[in-house]
Formats: sequence, C-alpha cells, structure tokens
Amino acid sequence: MKFVSTRGQSDPVAVDVAIQAGLAPDGGLYVPAAMPMLPAAVLESGSSIAQLGAKVLQPFFADSCLEGELSEICRRAFDFPIPLERLRSKAGDVEARILELFHGPSSAFKDVGARFLAECMASLAPSGLTRVMVATSGDTGGAVAAAFYRRPGFEVVILFPEEGVSEEQAQQLTCWGENVRSFAVSGTFDDCQRMLKETLEAGSVHGDVRLTTANSINIARLLAQLVYYAFIAVELRGGQLPSLLVPSGNLGNATAAIWARRMGLPLGKIFMVTNANRCVPEYMEKGVWQPRPSLRTLANAMDVGAPSNMERIRHLFPEIDDLREGVAALSIDDAAIAACIQSGLARWGRVFDPHTATAVQAMEELGEACGPLPVVIATAHPAKFRSIVEALVGVPVEAPAALAELQQRPSAYESIPASTEALRASLSTEA
Ligand SMILES: *Cc1c(COP(=O)(O)O)cnc(C)c1O
Repeated sequence: MKFVSTRGQSDPVAVDVAIQAGLAPDGGLYVPAAMPMLPAAVLESGSSIAQLGAKVLQPFFADSCLEGELSEICRRAFDFPIPLERLRSKAGDVEARILELFHGPSSAFKDVGARFLAECMASLAPSGLTRVMVATSGDTGGAVAAAFYRRPGFEVVILFPEEGVSEEQAQQLTCWGENVRSFAVSGTFDDCQRMLKETLEAGSVHGDVRLTTANSINIARLLAQLVYYAFIAVELRGGQLPSLLVPSGNLGNATAAIWARRMGLPLGKIFMVTNANRCVPEYMEKGVWQPRPSLRTLANAMDVGAPSNMERIRHLFPEIDDLREGVAALSIDDAAIAACIQSGLARWGRVFDPHTATAVQAMEELGEACGPLPVVIATAHPAKFRSIVEALVGVPVEAPAALAELQQRPSAYESIPASTEALRASLSTEA
C-alpha cells in the first residue's frame, strides 16, 4: 500500500514514511493511493477494539516496516473503553446511539489518534532523542502530552496561545513536567503554528535532537479514527444503516468516517456538524471553497476557519455532487449549543459538552432527515468544559478520575514572545 500527496507532486511512500514526514514534500496531505476494501469477515464480532483495529488497518500497513508491529501498536494504543450507548429521549420520540470517545487520558477524542501516533513513532524511533512539537488551540496538546509523557527517547514541546485557551485546557497543557515542556506564546494560535513551521523548516535536526510534529494532519491520527467507525458498523450490523453526526473543526474525524464507508463498511449518511464557523456548510451549499478567519465559539476545539482536511475530502470527491450524495453539513451557533446543553438532562438524561452538543442539536434539527438510526459522535467529556457546562445545567459535573488527577497537579510553563528566535533560544537551554 502506498500513500500519495493530495497535490500529486510527491513520490508515493509507505505508511511509515508518511507518518514520519507529516506533510508531504509538495505541501499536500498524504492519502491512500487506492482505498482498500475490507473483507466482510472483518465485520464478525468477538474482537476487542484493539483486535478490530489490527484487522481494519492491516491493508494500510502492508509492506511497510510497521506491518509486523501493527497488532502490538493497536493493543497499546486502544487501551481505554469506547462505549456505544443508547441515546433515548425521555419523551420517547428519538431513539439514537452515542459513541463515547472521551474515556482516554485527556477526556477528548484526540486521545485515539495521539496514542496511535505515539505508538507508531515509538516503534519507528531510531536511537537518540526525538522532540515532538505541537501547536495547539486547546485539545490536541493535552492528548499529545499524555501520549508521550515519560516515554523514553521522546520529548514534547507544546506551543499554545496565552490568551486563547480555556482555564481547564490550559491546566491540561501545563501540568506535565518531566519530558513535556509547555510554552505560552503571547500571540495567536496562528503565531504558534508559524513558529512551529519555521522551527521545522530550519532543519529536522537541532543539535543532536531530531525534530518532528504531531499535528492533526498526520496520517496516523486519521487511520486510528477509522477503527471506531468500523466498531460502530460491527456493533450495529444487520440492522438499520447507522448515520453519523460528527462534530467537526479541522475535519479529521469526518474524513475518517468518509474513508471508513469507502472501505465498504455498512454506514449511512455522514453529517459534518460545525459551530458558527460555516465554511464547510457553505461549500456544500454553493460549491465554492472559501476559507475564512476563525470565529470564537463555545465549542472552541472546532474554531477552524480553514479546515485542512477538506483537501483530503476534495481529493476523494473532485465532483461536489458525488460528495453530496452521502455527506451533508450543517452549522450550529452558540445559542443553539447552549440551549442543547441546558435542556440535556430533561430531554436525554445526559450532560453534553459543547462539541458533542452540536451533533445532538443537529440531530434534533434534522429530524427524520437524519436517517432511521442516528449515531452521535461524542468528542469530549463535559467536565473538560466544566465552567461553560455547569453554568448552563446548574448542577456540578463530576470529572473522570484521569481528568481529576490532572486538575490536581501543579502547573508550570514558560512564557515567550511570538517569535521563532525566542523559541529556539529557550529550547537550547535546559527547562
Ligand atoms: C478537535 C475536536 C473536534 C474537531 O475534530 P476535527 O477532527 O478537527 O474535525 C471536535 N470536538 C472536540 C472535543 C475536539 O477536541
């Protein structure tokens, strides 16, 4: 199996090369040269998520130097529960399912991709020290830190905008110590991304440290996300075709859903649900791709004005009408997110975080257009956004044990100006 660039100007490579490179040399994103079809036997039940992962991902790893390690990588990466629960309205008018992706160490779905990426990189790592750099607007940094924390041979450098993250997120970005260094940048998320890019462009080696990045366009993160869509298909096989409501920002999660269905998994319509950042629904409506500056919303991990994975989706569907056949998009604004969280206990007996609330609200607005068996993809635990959620539901939201433990730890970070020089200078000194 080879991976090619969406821009078509880079050599095809095996999965391990694509993982280590992140971005293709021509600036495009790696995609499979051809989507493998899954044999029907994969859908037989009786496997754990880790075992299912090894079966679903096998074709992508064929003939790579990670092929022999794939089962072990999956066993280590998929080590937390991903329950598919019933979601029934108390009035009895809606019967749906909800996939809880928030039982990992950072209580958000990004743990799935980050842990898988970390296991792949650890299997590939040559001797010496690898520095994994990540620019984050909120959730990614915590998931990457958790995945590499105390891992021999790796050091994590997190860059986050000093003013741009919530209090709970800031704690998760700064509570690690040991092999994780956090930098609060006096600038925006875009400044953090630029500093990361300039540092990497200056050379992939810094002294005797190798540099790499765990940003969200890495193919390993996307492949890991195929596994839980296969899990949904296995769990619900033989019944109505499940449709998927995916809270979307950079579109990594939605792209994985689209790829999973392309591999032949029995999945129905896919809804990409955005917050007030509307460029995806506008594209689906008008057929014109118009990225915009991002707006700040209650669902801040989805505050993306120029979703990078759209490039992968458009590569798979050069004709927008083909995309429209099985994929739709809608936008949920802050007022509707807040109302959905507020009514959650009375209507569903559940407390939703602001990201998951976009999907629940979309299901409500779509009604029958949603299909006979909607599955809400729950991307974060409500306690991760406690201050927003508690104010709306009026009852305390209990944090899962892993999150509560992180919240107790002392926080430490270094403040730097939004300059690549300043970052470089700090990195060449000891923490
Ligand atoms: C990152 C994130 C999203 C958006 O996922 P994409 O793959 O970027 O579309 C949704 N919800 C939460 C909680 C997130 O952290």
